[in-house]
Amino acid sequence: MPRAPLNLSVLHDLRPALAPAAILLAAVLALVAGPALPPSLYGLKTLGPYVVLLLGTGMGVWFNRGRAFIALASLLAAFAGYSLALEIGAASFATRAVFTAAAILVPLNFLLALVFPERGVSHHFNYRWLMLAVVETLFVAWIASAGRTSLSGTVWQDLLEHWLLRSPPMPLLGRLLFVAALVAAAARAWPRTPATEIRPLDIGQAGALVAFFIACEWVDAPGAFGAFMTASGAILLVSLLQESHRLAFGDELTGLPSRRALEERLHGLGPVHAIAMLDVDHFKNFNDAHGHDIGDQVLRLVSTRLAQAAGGGTAYRYGGEEFCILYPEIRLAEALPHVEKIRADIAAYQMAVRREDRPKDPEAGTKLRHLRSPDKTLSVTVSIGVAEPDDQRLTPAEVLRAADQALYRAKEAGRNRVCR
Ligand code: GH3
Ligand code: MG
Ligand code: MG
Repeated sequence: MPRAPLNLSVLHDLRPALAPAAILLAAVLALVAGPALPPSLYGLKTLGPYVVLLLGTGMGVWFNRGRAFIALASLLAAFAGYSLALEIGAASFATRAVFTAAAILVPLNFLLALVFPERGVSHHFNYRWLMLAVVETLFVAWIASAGRTSLSGTVWQDLLEHWLLRSPPMPLLGRLLFVAALVAAAARAWPRTPATEIRPLDIGQAGALVAFFIACEWVDAPGAFGAFMTASGAILLVSLLQESHRLAFGDELTGLPSRRALEERLHGLGPVHAIAMLDVDHFKNFNDAHGHDIGDQVLRLVSTRLAQAAGGGTAYRYGGEEFCILYPEIRLAEALPHVEKIRADIAAYQMAVRREDRPKDPEAGTKLRHLRSPDKTLSVTVSIGVAEPDDQRLTPAEVLRAADQALYRAKEAGRNRVCR
């Protein structure tokens, strides 16, 4: 009896949040186990946060991820600044001033980075971020030295008593900025359409903020600040790695898994499976008639349909306007009605495409979309070839080739049809 595909969609939706949750849990466990740490591992407590935060900052540069870089550099500066101030004395004014500044400036930097578009690290506009970093550092150093040099008086001492800045433990202004940044991060992470995948870096940003918030609120508990600052950096670091995995195995235009992901999946297929190869009909003419941008939009819309493939099928972008749907663990006879439905759905699908004169900036485009109606609806058809293992073809690669040959037959026979 064929097994019904398990409905794991809830787990799948929660997947991007698993790594941040695990890291936060690890930080809590480390705190609990902290006192039992053998003396030979004490170095972890002092060096650990620096290693993670420096590594993360470096990886932000390496992967050219502006937001992650700004977040990690802010966390690193906050941790280094606070550790330095602690050397002067835990109860000193400098320590309190640096803590207050960090608790406000880190969420502020997160918020600013989230509000502005992602431009990468090596962008000519980024001298502004560099200037901001210099200004913030000098400003904090100036406040922290209040009362110690003739330059700064005692006014800062009084100001830190203000209800917005007073710190038991995180100042109110810091909490407000934390909430604002968290909302901005959640807005970035929220999927635009049901088919869009949540990006690991967007979730990572929210997770790192939460870890930083806990670090600040627990600043007086021994070891907690270091543990949660490390967690904050680790969440961003892991999300940078997940993001690069996503870029390698996912297709940027359609959001579907890429051909590389398909090749990997093929190796893991059992003896029972079905494969469908799908190609958009006369797509070259379509591009010539409507332009490449509209062609891209149509590929995205077709992909949205494919991503919702029923019958336990997974769609991949094979390349160009060609797609592949894998049905693991079911026979072709069972998959065929689903494939036929996909073909019919796409043929009947009136796709509303956006105007060609829409603004290049995607955010301005989002605003305008509510005001303007799409000026045209278009439709395309697809031809599909299907195959399953039999006496002549045993390996998934051979089945895929057979599906490709069946696709040719579908084209020859007049397109907009499924052939086996
Ligand atoms: P057929 O019905 O025989 O498949 O005709 P066709 O024109 O679709 O076939 P062909 O393979 O000659 O052309 C594929 C075209 O698909 C070529 C290219 O213009 C278009 N194409 C491939 N990848 C993309 C893409 O990423 N975006 C857009 N807009 N067009 C693409
Ligand atoms: Mg083609
Ligand atoms: Mg084609």
